[in-house]
Amino acid sequence: MTEVKVQNGIRREFYELFINGEKVESSDGGTNDIINPATGEVIAKVAMATGEDAERAVMAARDAFENSKWKIYPASKRAKILNRIASIMRERFKELVELEVLNSGKSINAATGQINQAVEDFEYYAGAVCNHGGQTNDVPGQFHNYTEKEPVGVCAQIVPWNYPLMMAAWKVAPALAAGCTVVLKPASLTPLTALILGEICQEAGVPDGVINILPGSGSRVGDYLVEHPEVDKVAFTGSTDTGKDIMSKASRTLKRLTLELGGKSPALIFGDAELENAVASSVYGIYNNTGQSCDARSRIYVEDRIYDKFVEQFVEKTKQMKMGDPMSKETHMGSLIDKSQLESVEAYIETARQEGATIAYGGNRLSIEGYEGGFWLEPTIITDVTEDMTVVRDEIFGPVVVISRFSDEKEAVSLANNTIYGLASSIYTEDTRKAKRVADKIRAGIVMINCPFSAFPGTPFGGYKQSGFGRELSAETLDLYSETKSIMSYFGRKPINPFML
Ligand code: NDP
Repeated sequence: MTEVKVQNGIRREFYELFINGEKVESSDGGTNDIINPATGEVIAKVAMATGEDAERAVMAARDAFENSKWKIYPASKRAKILNRIASIMRERFKELVELEVLNSGKSINAATGQINQAVEDFEYYAGAVCNHGGQTNDVPGQFHNYTEKEPVGVCAQIVPWNYPLMMAAWKVAPALAAGCTVVLKPASLTPLTALILGEICQEAGVPDGVINILPGSGSRVGDYLVEHPEVDKVAFTGSTDTGKDIMSKASRTLKRLTLELGGKSPALIFGDAELENAVASSVYGIYNNTGQSCDARSRIYVEDRIYDKFVEQFVEKTKQMKMGDPMSKETHMGSLIDKSQLESVEAYIETARQEGATIAYGGNRLSIEGYEGGFWLEPTIITDVTEDMTVVRDEIFGPVVVISRFSDEKEAVSLANNTIYGLASSIYTEDTRKAKRVADKIRAGIVMINCPFSAFPGTPFGGYKQSGFGRELSAETLDLYSETKSIMSYFGRKPINPFML
């Protein structure tokens, strides 16, 4: 078993659930082996929650919501604790990064950026919540109306394996800031950093029961949380199919919902684009996080007149991508998350071959010395595609990009929008008027002009169409963790007697 170093160099082989401020084993003693996807080795064991554990966690969160002072603290006091969480995360930064790399197979550069953003999320919401509140509204003379923002209640938060701690932070930080209590279910494959976040919250002064972390299977624990009548809101990031299932189940108790789902995001490269930027940015746009990103720009459309040049340079840059030791700062791309994801991505590449596309680069498994047991795939470029091909339509969630052409602006927009998804999109052009026109016509929650970065703390992240709804990472997220209460008062001297009784 690889050593998992935690603070002070203590090795931890077993991670417990975090319920009501305590680390506990699961009620049936069940555990899961946690794998390092870069090597295929077991790095730790984690307790796997049961329905009974989920029940305890929900009731702890409910009790903390009703009876702890968390929701009645002034926002500034919660903000102080959020800032403390961020400070402790910074103190334990190296440990969090290394644990994320070990548990996800991603490169240390990717993990460093993501953990940094997770810290900044807490700092951002510590500030944002102090400006979040109600307003007074214009009502007839002797009346007075104001609104208050109240926390929505107990929130079940279900996160995927591609950005384990960052996705947890995107959800936990605004929920805590708003005064909610949380039951967080990390992905079964990647629960380690989320469990450390629970400890950090406790050390920072978050009262017992306000945050609970429950590794457990989606079908067992996830389902239980989604159906539980004492859960007021579900925030989910993951596949569109699971999102649909959650939406249908959550409707039975009319829970509030935030769904951040799949994508098949386009990059439009116009003939007047600054080519060096367009190529390097688009290489990052697909291969970042080994292509396992909901906002991956996995469909690239290039204007006819620069198509050949673009593809040639894109292939050249792709050849320069380094894969190998995820802990090395030289590594650009880590492994895929597990065997089944590797097989699923390979199956897509095979389907592309059968449907008549050309594999212009890559497409094969990689065997890397010292990492032979890991789940590695070459970065892969597919050309000669048509819009009806499976690899153009489906979210592949791996380092696989399709590149095709367009002849004018109208066609570019039409191709960009030719998908059930609407999460992100990139536009490369030096013509600012065109950039604005195209940005306005794209049906997606995020448009990036001449850059590959979709979000920073403070910018809204979320989708149109089947990419889900609700925005995370921004000030408006606080509204999604709040109810608005309207308070109407009468200050007139005369008794109110509309029935003239
Ligand atoms: P899922 O959407 O199934 O899983 C995401 C999270 O939801 C995990 O915590 C999972 O738990 C949980 N979950 C699964 N089923 C349920 C359920 N019925 N009720 C409540 N929670 C549930 O994604 P997968 O991990 O299975 O990945 C499959 C595909 O989804 C990928 O190949 C990719 O295409 C896409 N995906 C997209 C993501 C995105 O950000 N857009 C993120 C992850 C995946 P558990 O880990 O136990 O399964």
